[in-house]
This record gives sequence, C-alpha cells and structure tokens, in this order.
Amino acid sequence: MRNYIDDFRDSEVISRIVQSLQGYSGPKLKIMEVCGTHTMAISRYGLRSLLPRQIELVSGPGCPVCVTPTSYIDSATELADSKNVIITTFGDMMRVPGNNSTLLHKKAQGSNVQMVYSPLNAVELARNNPDKEVVFLSVGFETTTPVIALSVLKAKSEGIKNYSVLTANKTMPEAIKALADDKELQIDGFLYPGHVSAIIGTDFFSYVAYNMEKAGVVAGFEPLDILYSIKVLVDNIANGSIVFENMYSRIVAREGNIKAQQKMYEVFEPVDVVWRGIGMIPRSGLGLVKDYEQFDAAKKFDIKSKDIPEPKGCLCGEVLKGKKRPGDCKLFKKRCTPETPVGSCMVSSEGTCAAYYKYGE
Ligand code: SF4
Repeated sequence: MRNYIDDFRDSEVISRIVQSLQGYSGPKLKIMEVCGTHTMAISRYGLRSLLPRQIELVSGPGCPVCVTPTSYIDSATELADSKNVIITTFGDMMRVPGNNSTLLHKKAQGSNVQMVYSPLNAVELARNNPDKEVVFLSVGFETTTPVIALSVLKAKSEGIKNYSVLTANKTMPEAIKALADDKELQIDGFLYPGHVSAIIGTDFFSYVAYNMEKAGVVAGFEPLDILYSIKVLVDNIANGSIVFENMYSRIVAREGNIKAQQKMYEVFEPVDVVWRGIGMIPRSGLGLVKDYEQFDAAKKFDIKSKDIPEPKGCLCGEVLKGKKRPGDCKLFKKRCTPETPVGSCMVSSEGTCAAYYKYGE
C-alpha cells in the first residue's frame, strides 16, 4: 500500500528528473541549499552524487545551532554554574563546544541543565519551581521563534516572573542578502528552506530574484521535492529567466503564516547579531521588545557578549558560507568527529560537517 510520502520518493519519476539534469551542458552552476535540513536530506539520499559535474550544490548557514557564537555557549555554561538557575534547551545545544565546556559537561558535573521539547515545557518548569530561575536557550530561525514568543506571552499572562530567554535567534533574509551580495561566492541560485518559508512567506525570495538577480526556489524535503526544485532552478537559469518559484506550495503560501509572524513580532524585534564564523550581520537577529524585556536573561543576569575566536583549525565559518567543504578542514574525521566535535558544524543534526561525516562526501 502506497502512502503520501511514497509519491515523493518514486524512483521512476526520480530517474526521469535525474536523466534530464544529467543532460545539462551549460556553464557551471553553483546552487546553495541554505538550510541544514536540506543539507541533511541531500546527503542522506545521496542526491549530490546524482547531479552532473556542471551543477555544484554548496551548503549554507541555515543550521541555527551551527551559527550560534561560542560566546553564547560560554554565557550559557557560566549561567549553569549558578545554584538557583535551571537551564533548559533543545537537545542539539547540549553538545556544542564553548571555549571551556559544554552544557552536557555541566550537567554531568551537577548543574541543573534540562532538555525540553518545547519552550512551553520550560514555562511549566518555572511555574513548578518558583524558587528557581528557569532560562530557556532561545536559539532558532523563524521556524522555532514563534513558539518561543508564545512561551514569553504565556509567562507574562500567567504572571510567571522566574522565566527568561537567552536570545540568539536569527532570521534568514539579511543573511541571504549577504550571501547573494558576496562577489567571491558567486551563487547562481538558491534552494530556499520550506519550513522557514512556511512562516515568512515568499515575497522576500521574489525580491532577491528581481532586485538582486539571483534565481531561487522554495523546496520541500523529500528527494523528489529537492531534485525537481533543482531542475526547475537549473532550467530557469539556463533559459536566462532569473525568477523565483515556489515548489512547496502544498505547505508554503505567499503571505506565510501571518498569525505566527504577529506573535513573533509582538515579542521580538530585529537586532544586529553575530553569526558564528561569519561575523555581525545587521538586523539579522531578534531581541525582546521593551514590553517584554523582563524576560530577557541577558538583562536579568547582566550577561555581556564577548568576542571569542573559533577553535584553532576549525573552518566552520567558511563551511557555513559555502566557501569550503568539510573535507577541506584538516580536523575533519580526525580530531573532529560527532563524538568529539571541535566546531558546531559537527554537532548539530543539521550541521554540514555532521552530514558529510555520516553520509560521506
Ligand atoms: Fe569545524 Fe569540525 Fe567542521 Fe572542521 S570538521 S570545520 S573543525 S566542525
């Protein structure tokens, strides 16, 4: 019995698309898959190996854990040392190396660090532990930020004062603009993330196509979604048609999820933030608006961000910009493995180095 997903893994249809892509003989094209979920899916299904040499797929910075700066991890691990603080976080953040430690190490040493599946669980924890300060590590793109906003709204509406969020939230558009503008990188087209697009809509991607002259498609995450989207992108570029197309219309609407956007911007506003390995990108992050600053852990605990360099030899920054591949890093598969990660790109389940390690180059 076939199910809905089988249609997006149909080997016959996939073979026809691959054949058509193999027939491409135009100039070399560099296509960036912006998001880590695409990087993982492309590696898992071996899609890179199905493309002709003329079509190069490079990975971008769309893994939220990977672009979280070392200084943030250091602030979180230092905060975990405080006796009356409970640190709550999504699982991936537990193993990201800071300058001195990881949250997993802190937990092993007795700090109160708890993995949660939703920031709403962290609010519940705060409600049940009124003598403790519960801090949620607020890391993510537009996909996760709305639910973090909801947690702040919930804490406020219930008068919970011992809940706060340590923000490192990022937004995609300014980062994509920086990548589209990068003369050294020379991207021909973008494969945009389906989940982020489901929240923010597609107007921005049309802007990139028509104002910055970079073609793009929004793609889903099944093999057929990805390969067909690449085919549409390649055909458009080959025909000189620098446009944007939504190839994930079963999920993504032009206007996005307006309710989620409203909640997000009720609680957060754009701020300048540092992307790990990339540097500061103006207005590419989200900080709490004045009405909700009582939930800002950085203010509550007087946390100042510090400038901390990447671990020696780690090329994560260049990998995140699509300028290097994991194999270009001398530490890859040697000193840096998923068990002993040196950089964040090896930690996250969406990290490029982790994907290449697990599924090969
Ligand atoms: Fe950094 Fe490890 Fe990737 Fe090298 S292999 S770039 S050290 S995360």
